[in-house]
Amino acid sequence: MKNKKFKEIISVAILTVLIVSTLAAAFFTNRAKPYSESFLAMGTTFSTEVYGRNGKEVAALLKSMVTDVDLNLLSRTSTASKISELGRNKSAELPNEIIELIKTVQEISADSGGAVDITVGEITDLWQIGTSEAAIPDKAEIQKALSAVDYRKLKISGNTVTVGNGQTVDLGAVGKGYACDAAAKILSEHNAKACVFSAGGSILLYGKNPADELWQVAIRDPRGSASDVFAVFKTEAGFVSTSGDYERFFEKDGKSYHHIIDPKSGYPADSGIISVTVIADSGAVSDALSTACFVLGYEKSLPLLEKYNAQAIFVTKDKTVLATDEIRNKTELTNSDYHFAG
Ligand code: AMP
Ligand code: MG
Repeated sequence: MKNKKFKEIISVAILTVLIVSTLAAAFFTNRAKPYSESFLAMGTTFSTEVYGRNGKEVAALLKSMVTDVDLNLLSRTSTASKISELGRNKSAELPNEIIELIKTVQEISADSGGAVDITVGEITDLWQIGTSEAAIPDKAEIQKALSAVDYRKLKISGNTVTVGNGQTVDLGAVGKGYACDAAAKILSEHNAKACVFSAGGSILLYGKNPADELWQVAIRDPRGSASDVFAVFKTEAGFVSTSGDYERFFEKDGKSYHHIIDPKSGYPADSGIISVTVIADSGAVSDALSTACFVLGYEKSLPLLEKYNAQAIFVTKDKTVLATDEIRNKTELTNSDYHFAG
């Protein structure tokens, strides 16, 4: 499929993972048309496409869930959020779902040798990547902040989370995936037929695509503009997350510094990967894994992906695409600059 023809059938062009409607969808009756909405939250664009008679009502519930999760739970800037309370008091009582989320990430931290680590907050605060304050910190500052980074020092007892000395929690690596999990729960409670819920680099594909059963997902070209794609894959319902070095970065003296930190060095991860897309059974897992895999690189990610029964598509700096077996067979490269390894 040529890139140009492909562009014509993209319905959502601004997001990291692009959802593609098939041409058949254009001939659908009004009833099969989803209710679509986009809004800004968690520093990114959310979009919902809900199929079924109650689409508008369900979309409103999804939007208020996201606002609530952002302002009252995960935001580091909203003083009302549980995570900022944890920042101020070093200990906070969190609702069950957030405890479950943190436990899930802690397990993936252990399984990845700390490649994803929510106690990386002191480091991300130093870099400020994604804000106008972004700058290269002093080496000494990085070393000092690094001494606080260790997921094993964060303790959970019942519903109470207590951080270790000098630690700051940053749930940026999993917040959008968590929102996808919360969205799936709402969709199921309201018997929604099908839905594409897109939260920045994380996507929930719920139910069957009314057009042709499978969903087609296009992955953004990590070296192209926001609407360029390099690959398309087909998948059943599930969760997809992409981590890429193009999502948030700044440039200084001709060098680019992106937002995914290697918790071992305190600097942007440099595993040779520029984009990795993970498909898994939960949003929190796909999101935590995408960050971990970005830090680990292809080889070291394989046992981790296997353990979580997840599939992944990696892109290296020289535009080589590496994928786990199952998804490799369902993936088509749509940009001739990219090639599969081997
Ligand atoms: P993602 O785009 O899902 O890979 O998440 C990246 C975001 O998670 C960054 O913007 C930081 O807020 C945070 N972060 C960066 N590096 C890490 C890491 N190694 N582990 C956990 N969180 C991280
Ligand atoms: Mg992530």
